[in-house]
Amino acid sequence: MESLPTDHLHAVVTGGAGFVGSHLCTELVRLGHAVTCVDDFCTGSPDNVRHLAGRPGFELREADVADRLDIDRPVDLVLHLASPASPADYLRLPVHTLDAGSLGTRNALALAQRHGARFLLTSTSEVYGDPLQHPQSETYWGNVNPVGPRSVYDEAKRFAEALTTAEAAAEGVDTAIVRLFNTYGPRMRSHDGRAVPTFIRQALAGEPLTVTGDGSQTRSLTYVSDTVDGILAMAFSELSGPVNLGNDTEFTMLELARLVIELTGSASTVEFIARPTDDPAVRCPDITLARGKLRWEPLVPAREGLARTIDWFREHPGA
Ligand code: NAD
Repeated sequence: MESLPTDHLHAVVTGGAGFVGSHLCTELVRLGHAVTCVDDFCTGSPDNVRHLAGRPGFELREADVADRLDIDRPVDLVLHLASPASPADYLRLPVHTLDAGSLGTRNALALAQRHGARFLLTSTSEVYGDPLQHPQSETYWGNVNPVGPRSVYDEAKRFAEALTTAEAAAEGVDTAIVRLFNTYGPRMRSHDGRAVPTFIRQALAGEPLTVTGDGSQTRSLTYVSDTVDGILAMAFSELSGPVNLGNDTEFTMLELARLVIELTGSASTVEFIARPTDDPAVRCPDITLARGKLRWEPLVPAREGLARTIDWFREHPGA
């Protein structure tokens, strides 16, 4: 497959009114592309893309991707992000999450096929489950509990990867898979249950920061602009993937909580609470492939990304 031309494309972004999707739409519009953002607002909001309303070529369409997905003008690129992504959301919306990963991916692939468009799936580090290999490279098959509470998300994404791979082989669709690791930044919701917004909300309110387990479990944190740059590098490449996109600097949850307390200047303390079922002990990407083939690597250090995110939460107290 040849790589896409980089000017004046029409991209369809499913889940474009969510956290990552809204930053992706913003960057595509900034680069001069036309964007149709498709979202059912189950975890996202029109507010996240309100600043794009009226920009040439930008359209927001309310639709569930698990239903048929039709766009009546030529499409060059389908970026399929639609799926609840935080544990609190997918535990609240288990079947919707499975439908978005299965029926939604099928419909997004069919849209790409009808238009001869390139298709990109945002998969997740969750396909590695509670990993037995560390750091995780793309060749690792993962350690996922198929009937655990997180399985609605993990298995939906694993199915989505399998479907994407099958459609490329059977139907010749030009596909790409990226596996995103924990991404954070402005427009996260303070109550979405993910560690960064939870810690920031608690620190700004002067409440104890609730660290699960003994806080020794690790995560890697990628600032959203780095994630968006990685998604676009992949979209405009000829690679099919999967390719890991994440920051390979690893934090324990306790270190993260202490850093948030320091950066907010909060008087909050740390309180240890029970670990959720099947919560992975470690999570850190091997990004050799992205560095070598996409010439991509994360650029925003955690202190800087967290400071920007804290500023945003201060300016949006109701978020
Ligand atoms: P988010 O919940 O903020 O955004 C998801 C968006 O998809 C929301 O706007 C939601 O309304 C929409 N959506 C969900 N189901 C839909 C459906 N059936 N039809 C139409 N729209 C639907 O989550 P996010 O953090 O922005 O994640 C975006 C994508 O990136 C997801 O596919 C997620 O799996 C992937 N991802 C994110 C992270 C992360 O750390 N943020 C990590 C790994 C993978």
